[in-house]
Order: sequence, then C-alpha cells, then structure tokens
Amino acid sequence: MFDRYLQNIYRLISNDIGIDLGTANTLVYVKGHGIVINEPSVVAVNQKTGQVVAVGVSAKAMLGRTPGHILAVRPVVDGVISDFEVTEEMMAYLLNSSQKQARKFLGPRVVVGVPSGVTNVETRAVRDVTKNTGAREVHIVEQPMAAAIGIRLPIHEPVGSMIIDIGGGTTDIAVISLGGVVQSKNIKVAGDRFNNDIISYMRSEFKILIGEKTAENIKIAIGAVIPVSPAMEAVVKGRDLVSGLPREVALTDTDVREALAPSIDILLESVREVLEITPPEIVSDIMHRGIYLVGGGALLRGLDELLREYIRIPIHIAEDPLTAVARGTGIILEHFDLFKDVLIKNEDESSPDS
Ligand code: ADP
Ligand code: MG
Repeated sequence: MFDRYLQNIYRLISNDIGIDLGTANTLVYVKGHGIVINEPSVVAVNQKTGQVVAVGVSAKAMLGRTPGHILAVRPVVDGVISDFEVTEEMMAYLLNSSQKQARKFLGPRVVVGVPSGVTNVETRAVRDVTKNTGAREVHIVEQPMAAAIGIRLPIHEPVGSMIIDIGGGTTDIAVISLGGVVQSKNIKVAGDRFNNDIISYMRSEFKILIGEKTAENIKIAIGAVIPVSPAMEAVVKGRDLVSGLPREVALTDTDVREALAPSIDILLESVREVLEITPPEIVSDIMHRGIYLVGGGALLRGLDELLREYIRIPIHIAEDPLTAVARGTGIILEHFDLFKDVLIKNEDESSPDS
C-alpha cells in the first residue's frame, strides 16, 4: 500500500526514461511522453579545449567536414561504448534536453538497451555512464528483447520468436522465448559495413573516392539486394583518384547490389547458423510465426524477400523499425512490474541472501 503511494509520488516528481543507445542513433523515451529525442549518436569535440561543440544531427553534419582541431566522433562502436567521457557528455546532453519537457526534479529510473551478448564489463560501463548523468536507478535490457517488447511479440509465452536487429555497427540475431534470450548472435555486418562496401566498390570499380555520408545516402536512395524494376539510378560526386579532381558517375542499383553482396551473404549465413542451433520446437514456432526485422537495415530494399527465399520462413518488417528498441524500453517503464524479469541482473547489487 505504502509502496503504491511512494510509486505514485515518484511518478509525479521524476520522469522515468528509456534509452536506446545505438551505434548510429540514440533515442530517448520519457514515460508518459513517448519518444522525445531521436538523434544520431555523434558528438563533435573541440580537441584544443576538450569541449563538446555539437551533439546529434548537427554533429553528424560535421562528419568528414571538420577543421583540424574539431573531431566528430561516434562514441558507441560496434554496440559498445568505446569512449566513456564522450558517451557521458552525449547522454548528459540528450537527457538534459529530454528532461526539459517534463520539469521534474528527482533523478529518473532509467532503462537502457544494450546489444545482446555484451560482457559484464561493458554492461558495467553503461550503468556507470548512466548513473553519472543523474539516474536514480539504472536497468539494462538486451536490445533484441526490448525490440521484441516494442513490437509487442508475446515474449513471456512459451512460443519462440526470432528478431533480427540490423543497426549501424552490429546486427543482432536473437531467439526469444519465455521472457529470455534463448539464442543469439551479434555480428559486425550492418549499416556501417554496407556504407564501407559502397566506398570500396566506388574506389575499385570507378576509381573515385566518396565519403561515408555520401555512401549512406546512396545506400538509402538506390540500395536493393534483389533486382528491382524499374531500375534505380543516382548521380554520385566524388574525387577522381587519378586526377585528384571532382568527378561525377552514374550509379545503378545493380552496382550497389554487387557492392553489398559479400556482406549480405554473411548476414544470411549467420541467420541460418542461429536457426541451426535453436531447439526444434522453437524453430517450428518461428517457421509458423515468421521472423521480425527491426533497426534501420530492415529498410534495405528486398532484404526481407531475399531472406525469405534463403531460409524459407516468412519475414515481417516491423512497423517503424528504427524506434522498436526505444518503444520497448518505454513499455518496460510503463509496466515495470510486468517486465522487470527481462532486465539483466546487476551483479553488484545481488546480495548472497537474494
Ligand atoms: P543503431 O541501433 O545501431 O543506432 P539504427 O537501427 O538506428 O542503428 O539504424 C541505423 C542504420 O540503418 C544506419 O546504418 C542507416 O544507414 C541504416 N538505414 C536507415 N534507413 C535505411 C534505409 N531506408 N535503407 C537502408 N538502410 C537504412
Ligand atoms: Mg539499435
């Protein structure tokens, strides 16, 4: 009874927060408000003063365009925090702006999504960084679990689901049943790798140098992993590797498909590998219910169809795939008692008698 009372008071004076700390994008969900922040995970730092110059969209615009003393960095690499201080600055900045929406004054309860299979040390880093930004309680959930909750899969039931989260740095392939991750595989083949594939292809096939952002734009504009009709084309500007001068080339979806093929093969093969080690009852659930794609890479044209052909299981692209994890952290906050069993246990807080 008193508990309930306290909970209500907390609700009034603190605004609990869900965070999807992605390699490409960071999203913040504020309880009762929904997703209030959705920004690239990029921070621009002035190397002379150590000061943060920009965070999010404005920092991403600086990638590859900064003068010598300003460095635009992505502090979350391959799904784990590679730069503590910068991640902390980024989170503090984003949380501050999300906090403004609610004007509450008690440190929030925070649920943060991390990639599946991260080590204790890495989880610890996320906990520390989040605590340092003023959180009262920090809870960690594996991103594929959060995504599954976000797209309202029946995670607590004794039926297996497979979810594939194709983000910027990593792809998480996970099988979930009875509130836990039964099987998972995390590979470094995802959006960033696709961008690099396009950069390499342009260099070797067209002798032209392009930047990461240009490559990403190409991928989103004309990227397709199966033939499309009508064919798509884009004019790409870059620097000629021989003359050193600017040059334009016309690129088609076929070029991009060729560039991405080796990476896409690894992705398909990895999904097959996870299915191979998944218990047969669960595989039969997955065959029946289909596989769910989330993350920005889920939007790559034809990926669903290619996967369907390759493993012969129905594939569903989740609605609004880029926000699935953040929505999941939000649902966990809104129904905390119902979902607290899916959180990763905090090694530090478990006492011998619990
Ligand atoms: P993360 O969780 O790692 O932050 P996201 O789920 O936010 O990653 O996805 C970001 C990735 O998705 C980027 O590599 C981006 O280029 C890619 N992406 C976004 N939209 C599309 C699209 N329409 N087609 C292909 N890739 C896309
Ligand atoms: Mg993600």
